Amino acid sequence: RIVLGIESSCDETGVGLVRLDASGRVELLADAVASSVDQHARFGGVVPEIASRAHLEAMVPTMRRALDDSGLRLSDVDGVAVTAGPGLAGALMVGVAAAKSYAAALDVPLYGVNHLAGHVAVDTLEHGPLPERCLALLVSGGHSQLLLVEGVAKSLTQIGSTIDDAAGEAYDKVARLLELPYPGGPPIDKHAERGDPSAIDFPRGLTGPRDSRHDFSFSGVKTAVARWVEQARREDRAVPVNDVCASFQEAVADVLTAKAVRAAQDHEIDTLVISGGVAANSRLSALAAERCEAAGITLRVPRPRLCTDNGAMIAALGAHVVAAEGKPSPLTLGADPGLPVSTVLVS
Ligand code: ATP
Ligand code: MG
Ligand code: FE
Repeated sequence: RIVLGIESSCDETGVGLVRLDASGRVELLADAVASSVDQHARFGGVVPEIASRAHLEAMVPTMRRALDDSGLRLSDVDGVAVTAGPGLAGALMVGVAAAKSYAAALDVPLYGVNHLAGHVAVDTLEHGPLPERCLALLVSGGHSQLLLVEGVAKSLTQIGSTIDDAAGEAYDKVARLLELPYPGGPPIDKHAERGDPSAIDFPRGLTGPRDSRHDFSFSGVKTAVARWVEQARREDRAVPVNDVCASFQEAVADVLTAKAVRAAQDHEIDTLVISGGVAANSRLSALAAERCEAAGITLRVPRPRLCTDNGAMIAALGAHVVAAEGKPSPLTLGADPGLPVSTVLVS
């Protein structure tokens, strides 16, 4: 069976196509993405109105590209999955409206699904079926959380999350104060390569013995970087951008990996999936590999293209929902900007 997936929760318009076979395996057929990231760059963050309009313009061309890439026709589609939330209200609405139109016109079932579950489900396109239980570390521009996954189409439970900034948000803010381009992850990663990660000891938020075990905080490290840079500028010292980037990146990767491994151990889980845009970070994946290996945990990180927002992740989740015989959503489906992660499928 062929499942179409539509994603529009933030600044990427994504259309994906996957094939679900009789054994429940899901294969990637097409993954077309159009991003409005360049239009947001001068604002240093995603502007909702701009994102909505860009989705509207990109939806049909992106759909056409996915179909062309796969060699399929719309009449081959057996089900339509779409991100129902969480995300930006206006942005989500474009994808939901499009998905409802396609489902109605093609007379196939509609599945309104959870974006965060999609970030986890996408890994099955690269590494095959997930074990019955696994832990997911989801780190992007809008999210930083630890999820206990007991069947990606069935049960996701949040066991920890950021109490302030998301990890990607911290990257973007630090990049801004170092006058590096938006989004900040890639340039910081690049500068960090040539810096000393132990040059500056930036704080590791919420890692004290009395802190809530699985929550994150990144506003402290961001502020510490700002103070450090301000002081250097006040004293007319040149800011060692490479060292600041490497030290900041080390602090973030240290916290994320230490907490993920500890959560896996607490819940007796032997598989960790890291997804979201920040999963592309070189130090995060290296340190995660090192610490997971030491703890006997299998690490799964989808390739960067699948870690950032895309339609294939929604198609993959849709296929798992179909395989689990999830109940289709009504054609009155609406966007839910605050959809909780516990709701994988809106029906
Ligand atoms: P959402 O949070 O809804 O998934 P988003 O668009 O913010 O939406 P993504 O597209 O998954 O999320 O990821 C973008 C984020 O990932 C940005 O904050 C960006 O700085 C960060 N990022 C990208 N590459 C890297 C990298 N190499 N290192 C660190 N952070 C990175
Ligand atoms: Mg994005
Ligand atoms: Fe996302």
